[in-house]
Amino acid sequence: MSETAPRDPNYVVIHDTTLRDGAQMPRIDFDLEDRLAIAERLSGMGVDIIEAGFPFAVEGDFEAASAIAETVGGSKISALSRTRHEDIEKAWMAIEPAKDRGGTRIHTFIGTSPTHMRDKLKMTEEEVVQEVRSGVTKAREFTDDVQFSPEDASRSDFNFMMRVILEAVDAGATTINVPDTVGFAVMGEYAARLKAVKEQIDERFGEGLVVVSAHCHDDLGWSTANTLMALAAGARQVEVTVGGIGERASNTALEEVVANTSERPDMFGGIHTGIDTTKLTGVYREVMKRAGLPVQLNKAVVGRNAFAHEAGIHQHGVSQNVETYEHMRADRYGQTAAEMVIAKLSGWRGVESRLKSIGIEIAPENLKAISKKAKEMSDRLGRQMADNDIEKLAAAETGEALHDRYRIDGVDAQELHNVGSARIQLTDTASGRKLEASANSPKEGAIDAVRIAINKAIGFDGDMEDWEAKAREPGSKARGGIYVLVKRNGDSVQAYDEATSVNQASAKAYLDAINMIERIKGRQLQPVVEPQDVQT
Ligand code: MN
Repeated sequence: MSETAPRDPNYVVIHDTTLRDGAQMPRIDFDLEDRLAIAERLSGMGVDIIEAGFPFAVEGDFEAASAIAETVGGSKISALSRTRHEDIEKAWMAIEPAKDRGGTRIHTFIGTSPTHMRDKLKMTEEEVVQEVRSGVTKAREFTDDVQFSPEDASRSDFNFMMRVILEAVDAGATTINVPDTVGFAVMGEYAARLKAVKEQIDERFGEGLVVVSAHCHDDLGWSTANTLMALAAGARQVEVTVGGIGERASNTALEEVVANTSERPDMFGGIHTGIDTTKLTGVYREVMKRAGLPVQLNKAVVGRNAFAHEAGIHQHGVSQNVETYEHMRADRYGQTAAEMVIAKLSGWRGVESRLKSIGIEIAPENLKAISKKAKEMSDRLGRQMADNDIEKLAAAETGEALHDRYRIDGVDAQELHNVGSARIQLTDTASGRKLEASANSPKEGAIDAVRIAINKAIGFDGDMEDWEAKAREPGSKARGGIYVLVKRNGDSVQAYDEATSVNQASAKAYLDAINMIERIKGRQLQPVVEPQDVQT
């Protein structure tokens, strides 16, 4: 039995293929630095096995898999390989450095469906069986952890596929992965096939000797359902990607599978994974950023809106009891519970909650007036209200003077050969001092350089958690609108601002957030005389 084969029969091995099947997603590209950073995050989250690439076939995968095998500890490193010996040797060369670290796995595969054998491989059934024995035997010379996949399993003739699988196990494969390569299986088909595979392996080689693994694609929208039903049918490994990135309509999303087993373990026979679920959202956002993809608003568990509410009735519900409209605990997934979005449909409870978060508490009558204005303003401008918008409306209602601690005098930012640089000039209105700082951001670009320069100029230790451009209709005035979410000491505030350039707007919005944080501190200090100090 291999080292990663679960000793606990309820343990589900997470085999992450973000850097292999995920990286094959059209229109995205991870460079070496991205791959290393993602592998570190996967390992830090508790992924059991990281599939680091397809070293023989994909340009750059050998270097990337080698670098990951040399530096990333904690997880076992796997490489994909066809059954040919030169493929397997190259896969082994790439991952060998991991043998004294997290361990190694060779994942070898061959197509077993009629289409794959006839049109792609141009091989007979007998030749395929011979290839599998030869490939798995070769892989076992290097490592005792060998996974075999009959590619396009769901469109393969079951009896032939089973013959190939039993041959692979007999030759030493310790994990059998059943790929629904093209997302063909619907209803209970996939789980039924996987269950039959497991039964035949267990019958021939003994219960639990081999781990059966699910690998699904989302062409018909079944990837997560098929993977979960496979777990209920006895699979104890899942092949998944962060955010479900992958070929065509993509792979099974890691976070969806993990959230299901974590929320409803009873439905899956008490299974569990080694994933630290609180890291799921952070890892998802990191992978999306590096892939150049937006954080999906409506993505399950890790999406921007997964725990957000705009409708007034829902805002009222969650403000009384968050469980009214959230059945999962947001913090368990690294999200914030009951985020209130203030826009056309929102209610005064939402405004109350946002104002409270920036240190403003006012009576319901005033809140209703502010809420009405916020909704009108949102409708007129066609955008959601940020915290600084609502703060302004509240100040107009209560007469509070909103003082900006820092004022922008100049922003000079550019990007050349992907290196962002910025020079910022500010005035600290509290002391009248002029502040100035320059910064470079070699990877992230000009907006990140703006952020670093502002932090340097004022000694701010917070961070820009999120940045979002507000799309404007063509032909409207040429101003860029930017939302930023700024986090400091666990609290976050959202600010919106506009300017004629995106860099300028980003600088303004970021500083708006910092000025708001300064005012929050002032409001928290407000009861200057503590009640117990009053002696009279
Ligand atoms: Mn695949």
